[in-house]
Amino acid sequence: MINRRTLLRNLSALPLVGGFIGSNYLLGKDGVADRTLGDKSYRDYYKELGVRTFINAAGTYTAMSGCLMRDDVLDAINYASKQYVNIDDLQDKVGERIAELLECEAATVTAGCFSALSLGLAGVLTGTDAKKAAMLPTDLTGMKSEVILQKSHHIGYAHALVNCGVKLILVETAAELEAAINDQTAMLWFLNYGNPDGQIKHDEFIRLGKKHGIPTMIDCAADVPPKENLFKYTKMGFDLVCFSGGKGLRGPQSAGLLLGRKDLIAGARQNAAPRGDTVGRGMKVNKEETLGMLAALENFLSRDHDADWKLWKAQIQHIHDAAASVDGVKPEIHVPEIANHVPSLKISWDMNKIKMDGNEVREKLRMGHPSIQTVGDKESLGITTWMLNPGEERAVAPRMKEILSGMA
Ligand SMILES: *Cc1c(COP(=O)(O)O)cnc(C)c1O
Repeated sequence: MINRRTLLRNLSALPLVGGFIGSNYLLGKDGVADRTLGDKSYRDYYKELGVRTFINAAGTYTAMSGCLMRDDVLDAINYASKQYVNIDDLQDKVGERIAELLECEAATVTAGCFSALSLGLAGVLTGTDAKKAAMLPTDLTGMKSEVILQKSHHIGYAHALVNCGVKLILVETAAELEAAINDQTAMLWFLNYGNPDGQIKHDEFIRLGKKHGIPTMIDCAADVPPKENLFKYTKMGFDLVCFSGGKGLRGPQSAGLLLGRKDLIAGARQNAAPRGDTVGRGMKVNKEETLGMLAALENFLSRDHDADWKLWKAQIQHIHDAAASVDGVKPEIHVPEIANHVPSLKISWDMNKIKMDGNEVREKLRMGHPSIQTVGDKESLGITTWMLNPGEERAVAPRMKEILSGMA
């Protein structure tokens, strides 16, 4: 690996960029030049605005701005911003490239997973009929109007479907699902992380869709890693598969992927920007995000996932050990089976010995210096390390120990 001094020497040998880069370039996470806040050519907007930044020991939470984009993504965004292109041309070509990479029939970049859910369903309802697309969401004449899902899969994000004007039909068993199917049934919707709680599993769900000729869609928003999931569900037979771009893929937070059948992706595009009289017009994806999404995906596919995992695990272990050294504290390392499938830490403690609940500890972590964001409830604290910058675990561990020991 090239060290910082060599890098700086190499960079300053380039006449065009030497002066601009100055002395504050460091090796970024991916081993390419990265900007630091110390660089005088960058304004410290957050500080100027009084917006507090924090160490993200929580995970890929939307309200916490999701993830930090990788350097490849920033390069692609920067590249894209310099020239005009036709948005549909770019979407066509990027979609083809993504479909090739993920070995599926077709793909398109959406404005997040939520947008993929809405656009995918809109495409199912209207096909490529512009007149029908203009009727959504208030007039579904001549279109189907119901989506069936399992009760245990019914979470807030299902609102993305309601945005198209459909009615959600909730069922629990396969028999109930079949009984609920009628000539108004447009689609069957599956929440991947709801799988353990639902009675109808993937295979049977797909089989029922095929048996009745009704498209199936799966929400896999937070379900990478593992990498295999990007391929698994299209190959399994779901007609549409939706991912967030700004979670584990480390792309733009306002981007996502819709993968699946060619005709349905074409229908989704009919309902998307730049077309104005559509439910999707407000889900515009700009050229920067479109290329950024592609760059994020390429980076993700080519990464050494074992090395990433090892790093996250070592960071979790470091924080675990600091917590475990405090009397009365019980840290547990676990890996959720599905959704945010990464090394995670659950810290609980004897509240007779340590007289603070989870909310109070979280608040102290958040209000301290540096500010550290975690998740959890009254009973415990939840931590992941996959969204940390390497090294930040060394700030999280002592701070947590200090708070739990009653020294802060
Ligand atoms: C995050 C999430 C979404 C929304 O994804 P965005 O990319 O933020 O639009 C949808 N469904 C599930 C299960 C999620 O976790």
